[in-house]
Amino acid sequence: MHKSKVLFISCSDPRLRPWNERKMAELGGPREVDPIIIPGPIPLLASRDFSTKFVTAWVVKLWTLHGFTRVVLTSHEDCGAVGGSEKFNGPKAEETVHREWLRQASAKLRKLLPQVTEFETIYVPLSEMMADPQD
Ligand SMILES: [Zn+2]
Repeated sequence: MHKSKVLFISCSDPRLRPWNERKMAELGGPREVDPIIIPGPIPLLASRDFSTKFVTAWVVKLWTLHGFTRVVLTSHEDCGAVGGSEKFNGPKAEETVHREWLRQASAKLRKLLPQVTEFETIYVPLSEMMADPQD
């Protein structure tokens, strides 16, 4: 059965799509990366909402199938799933909250997947999301 190297968890915001594509290519390309790209996955994983269980079930399923050894969790500025930037008291406060969600989501997955050794969390600012790689 096929094995992958990386689980990549990111948001389905279309503005983030070029960044997601570049990052997955950098992580080894489509054959090495298992993507979970859904609306606001990091705040969802950090929450106690019942739907968290869907995401954690997919994560465990993908690990069982493909045995990745690295998990990359991505959250981004102005995420509509949590009400966008206007929900926060400025960009610094927004980044702080997203980084805390990333920490909590990562801790939850570490507990769930003790066999996985490498966890990386990334906060993507709007400027990086909107950067055109052709420039
Ligand atoms: Zn988003």
